Amino acid sequence: MVENWRFFKKRAPNAAIAAVVKADAYGLGAAPAARALAQAGARVFFTATFGEAIRVRKALGEGPQIFVLNGPSAKDVAQYSDAKLTPILNSVAQIKLWDARAGAGLHIDTGMNRLGLGPEELAQSMVALKGTSLALVMSHLACGSDLKHEMNATQLKRFIDAASLFPKAPLSLAATAGALIGPEYHFDLIRPGVGLYGSGGLDADNPQLIAAALIEAPILQVRDVEPGESFGYGATFTATQKMRTATVALGYADGYLRSLGGRGYGVLGGAKRPILGRVSMDLIILDVTGCAEALPGAMVEFLGPNAPLDDIAALAGTASYEILTTFAGTVRKTGARA
Ligand SMILES: *Cc1c(COP(=O)(O)O)cnc(C)c1O
Repeated sequence: MVENWRFFKKRAPNAAIAAVVKADAYGLGAAPAARALAQAGARVFFTATFGEAIRVRKALGEGPQIFVLNGPSAKDVAQYSDAKLTPILNSVAQIKLWDARAGAGLHIDTGMNRLGLGPEELAQSMVALKGTSLALVMSHLACGSDLKHEMNATQLKRFIDAASLFPKAPLSLAATAGALIGPEYHFDLIRPGVGLYGSGGLDADNPQLIAAALIEAPILQVRDVEPGESFGYGATFTATQKMRTATVALGYADGYLRSLGGRGYGVLGGAKRPILGRVSMDLIILDVTGCAEALPGAMVEFLGPNAPLDDIAALAGTASYEILTTFAGTVRKTGARA
């Protein structure tokens, strides 16, 4: 992830490169990820929740700035200053709750309609914001994953217009994908998350980022099977010729999505070994015909440099984000790479 962070630093040489470590750093482990990225030079971190931010503060000690994207709630607002956390204020209600305590970020909605203040709420909040020193004014792109989507330019224009109300505040619009659109999206700070962990976050043509999440699992058994034999629950695959198969200790309980049954692969001996039939709770059957390395105990790669995140996500019919967070516990056990 450190090399990926540097990739963004090269892409956006005039911006600060934050690190988004929400959802336990997309399942890789927020504390080790934040420490590695801080060591590489990251000075600004984003979490989704107050609880995550507290854990990241513990891991990093004082110094780096930690923004909480979901903003303060009545339950935690009083505790921000102790841990030196900076909330993102997303609504009129959160601005009231924060009550100009200290530095905060402000989220302007430019078209995603998820979090942030729309034009009317912004106008209505200008007085209340007077006493708040704004550490950041940010927005988020709805369609950054499609670099050519017309909504990107629309949101860029709305962001520039709204941000002109805050001439002194640092500005931030782009996450991973947005940073890849072009320099006009970089402003003062970019906020890559998934890019640090190995995916460009794009619908197509992902850049070659380095795999930070590794999933490997051992072969438990190897079998030689005859034509006509079928495999696994539902007997959904039947051999039409002699085959060698390997049963591997990985399944959907480990986060290996069931939708990869009959579509995914493991990598062994330098080649892709297709999944035969369904993914079980703790087991997968692979076609290892002709693979000399297929022996009990051999480790098969299911996610990593040879089984790229974006490829696996496409085969599963989902986004790289969901692959990472679904795998979460397993990646922490088998290998997240700094
Ligand atoms: C999750 C998130 C990011 C990081 O997005 P990636 O696509 O993973 O880079 C940045 N900003 C906001 C507001 C987010 O919610």
